[in-house]
Amino acid sequence: MPDFSVVIPCHNEEENLRLVYERVCAQLSDFEIIFVDDGSTDGTLPILMALAEEDERVKYLSFTRNFGLDAAFHAGFKYASKKWIVQIDADLQSPPEEIPKLVDKALTGFDIVFARRRDRKDSVIKKLGSRLQHLVAMHLFRIEFPAGASTFRVIRTAVAKKVIARRTAYPYFLAECLRVGVRFAFVEVAHSARNAGRSKFTLLASLRATARLLLGHSLVPLNVFSLVTLVAVLAFLLLPQTVSLPVVLCLISAGLWIQACYIGRLVREGAFHNLYYVRDSNLAIDAEDDLFGLAPPPPVEGSASS
Ligand code: UDP
Ligand code: MG
Repeated sequence: MPDFSVVIPCHNEEENLRLVYERVCAQLSDFEIIFVDDGSTDGTLPILMALAEEDERVKYLSFTRNFGLDAAFHAGFKYASKKWIVQIDADLQSPPEEIPKLVDKALTGFDIVFARRRDRKDSVIKKLGSRLQHLVAMHLFRIEFPAGASTFRVIRTAVAKKVIARRTAYPYFLAECLRVGVRFAFVEVAHSARNAGRSKFTLLASLRATARLLLGHSLVPLNVFSLVTLVAVLAFLLLPQTVSLPVVLCLISAGLWIQACYIGRLVREGAFHNLYYVRDSNLAIDAEDDLFGLAPPPPVEGSASS
């Protein structure tokens, strides 16, 4: 059995941490667990520190504020040191007892194995929303997308690091990993209601993620709107009775707004900034991620022991 870095993003998950830790430990033999505390305001960080004191396989990173789930797992992937990554949520909606199924499948020759949730225990809005997002992304925007994939997954660490190293301004792991050409598979797993605490899912966050996916990975909106606007302007000039001025003006405004979104995307790509900053960790943190000088100071010249 190879070795694993289990990446667990957590935002205000104090009631779930010990249980997820125990249940993960019962499934694997050679592993580290990297908990990423995404700006929690409850007792998450002290619990992680206590777990790390008790068990040297436990690593933690604590962000300076809440940067979101994507930032949290990106950090976990970056600092993973084992051959395979297992990503799992802290709330135990995905049972750690299903990890071996994903691992067994991965070891048959895949780079990523995604869990597909059987009888998903989420709200109707959430389930419909993700189905709609997949349909729009794949069929209207022509984005390659592993539909039905969850954030419970096993990933070859070298591949995960390559994907996050792409550092686009609109990172969207599922779309990025298909762009680099990973071999992926699905495994059906059980799904439960959250063990304790509240879901951090919000409609606004999910709309933002969808916009990031669509604008960051497709030029379809730009091309379609440019074409529609051109056709409307030509129709207005050549056959004025077919289209009214207010309609043409609305289409031009919509077209300009979409162009502005893409220009904004270019500006953000140019001025790329960190996805997250780290406040505290028991790992050696890269200087670029480290806001408060956690990185070990450079050796002083001449002080090396002879
Ligand atoms: N999470 C995070 N940062 C956030 C929101 C969520 O690290 O800003 C973590 C959270 O602690 C959990 C996982 O991401 O481990 C999934 O979040 P949640 O269960 O709230 O989302 P849902 O399953 O309801 O979509
Ligand atoms: Mg959840």
